[in-house]
Amino acid sequence: MSYRLERSQVQQRAVRVLKDYQINKLPINPKEVAAKAGISVLPKNDCEPGVSGMLLRNGENFGILYATYLNNPGFENFSIAHELGHYFLDGHPEQVFKNSNIHASTAEFVTSDLIEREADTFAASLLMPEDIFKDQLSRFEKGFTCIEAMAKLCNTSLTATAIRYAELTEDMVVIIVSKNNIVEFCCISNNVFKLKEIEKPKKGDKIPKDTATEAITNNPALLVKSEVRYAETRFIDWLECRSSRVAAEEAIGLGKYGKVLTVIS
Ligand SMILES: [Zn+2]
Repeated sequence: MSYRLERSQVQQRAVRVLKDYQINKLPINPKEVAAKAGISVLPKNDCEPGVSGMLLRNGENFGILYATYLNNPGFENFSIAHELGHYFLDGHPEQVFKNSNIHASTAEFVTSDLIEREADTFAASLLMPEDIFKDQLSRFEKGFTCIEAMAKLCNTSLTATAIRYAELTEDMVVIIVSKNNIVEFCCISNNVFKLKEIEKPKKGDKIPKDTATEAITNNPALLVKSEVRYAETRFIDWLECRSSRVAAEEAIGLGKYGKVLTVIS
């Protein structure tokens, strides 16, 4: 059986969970949510690469294991929240436990698998609730500064925070996660559509030449150094549009897997 939840249904479910448990302050601690739902949560240091966490079922009891190999508390929080998505979302338990009592996840927007993406959307909505997140945005300078500050406030990874920022900001912003100068994921804020006849970069597209992103990707030392590189650019260099508007490119290496996060704003 395949099914599909509306994005708004997924987001509303996360809002309901927080309301039911009377959790309304940043940072949202997914372990607290799990505890209130009676789900035990444990770290696991020997997950296969790519596996972010697992949801386990034994009759009516559920448990969550989360991968610690990235050594990134923000990513761990997201992984736990992703598993909570499989627990709370309608139809998910039936789907993920169809063939076994263990579901292994690939969280944080790396797969196009629908059920995983729904759990990612749930995780983002749980850890970065729309209302509270938006209230804070105006406090910070736009672009990477804002993303970094919000990641600290929410205790979430830069990648997940950047994607949520693009969803909720009034700024014009393009977020790209790439590896080996190839786009793996891209999202754009609503206001980017003002640039007219937009076509956003797709998975598999090449990163433009002579950019900060390319410089980081081609330098193994920079890839693991958490330092932002800045370059002046134009939106038209990154996406198809009918505007030559100038923009800022900010890029940072995401660590040992060679990925780079790029923020165009
Ligand atoms: Zn999953």
